[in-house]
Amino acid sequence: MLQLITARYVMPVSAPVIENGAVLINSRSIMAVGRRATLAVANPEATTVDFGDAVILPPMVNAHTHLELTDYPTWALQAGFSNLSESFADWVVKLVKVRNAQPIAKIKNSLKSGLDQVLKAGTGAIGDILTTLNIHEVYNRTSLKGRIFCELLGHDLTKINERLDFIQESLLRSPPGRFGLGLAPHAPYTLTSTALSHIVLWSERHELPLAIHLAETKEETEFLSGKTGPIAERIFPAAKWRVDDFSDLPANSSVQWLINNAVLPAGSLVVHGVHLTEADINDVARYSWHVVLCPRSNSHFGDSRAAVASYRKAGINLALGTDSRASVSSLSLWDELAYAWRHFPGVCGPSEWLDIATRGGAKALGVDAIMGRLEPGLGANFQIVVPPEIPSTGELAEALCAHADMIDVKALYIDGENILSVN
Ligand SMILES: [Zn+2]
Repeated sequence: MLQLITARYVMPVSAPVIENGAVLINSRSIMAVGRRATLAVANPEATTVDFGDAVILPPMVNAHTHLELTDYPTWALQAGFSNLSESFADWVVKLVKVRNAQPIAKIKNSLKSGLDQVLKAGTGAIGDILTTLNIHEVYNRTSLKGRIFCELLGHDLTKINERLDFIQESLLRSPPGRFGLGLAPHAPYTLTSTALSHIVLWSERHELPLAIHLAETKEETEFLSGKTGPIAERIFPAAKWRVDDFSDLPANSSVQWLINNAVLPAGSLVVHGVHLTEADINDVARYSWHVVLCPRSNSHFGDSRAAVASYRKAGINLALGTDSRASVSSLSLWDELAYAWRHFPGVCGPSEWLDIATRGGAKALGVDAIMGRLEPGLGANFQIVVPPEIPSTGELAEALCAHADMIDVKALYIDGENILSVN
């Protein structure tokens, strides 16, 4: 069945904005994108669904999140923790303590709630970190696409292998929902070089993409250069790890540590990428890694800003992620975009930020053949939003960025179905 979805504006992302535009879809694919009048005349049999003074654009892609932690603020309050600002190391210790105290049923509900929240915020794909591997069936019930990255950390290869065996037998045999799989070696301060290279080899054998938290804080750099600082003094005792078990050679940056120990394959996701030198950024470009920016989460631990201009100059694909509800106030990528727009003034134009939030994320998660721009042949995946005021065509991109946290998401089509009207 042909449908003509129309609105005041269509923003294909890969082409200029169309006023009085329309997207022609069959059951699951985009057939044409253009002016409403032209497409209506050429396709008289199509049913028209008009959204009026609204904007049709690709769905948001939340390229880094931890949806199983969606209910974390409630758990932390119930455990007697406040929401006051805290150091990164103290936050990690608290997070692990609070999460480990939750029964599996609560973590499942929390993931389910996270999946619902991102859909309502106009998100079509996620890069979700899964720590509690045996709740993976929750993903079967969502329309979201993207990639589930199974988290691995520590220095104990026996424990890491147990998780890899589980991933092979449960998740690889029957991938959850509409998602691809990947591995998330957690971070340079939670992995020995031996563990990292073991995980990278395993991922190559199974052709699984990787995502790693990298260069998130200055404490991470301090730890890698001398095994000292708050990570060694607070996180290690809480995890019952010994610094001596992490006997890697000192590295003066997180990217250098990575390159010294195991080069991640092209297409890997570097999440955060805040504390990197220009030389590190050139290495990220040389290895063709994507970078997922999480500016709200970074600000939770002080005023650290990723070098977005340098990333752009180096030609690195950028995506946006909300990170988890343990460090941000919402799972809406529109809220993240609003923050990025204000947090990095003048670094990128509004169209570039919208590209990062949609097409950049789709590329990072390997779903860019079906999502991330409005073009014939892609999946019928798009959102319909209403900004507080309808601007002129030339001002639309800036209005969407400037008012991104006031956007009303009216509809979200995934595979030709309006998911928000179904729910
Ligand atoms: Zn994260």
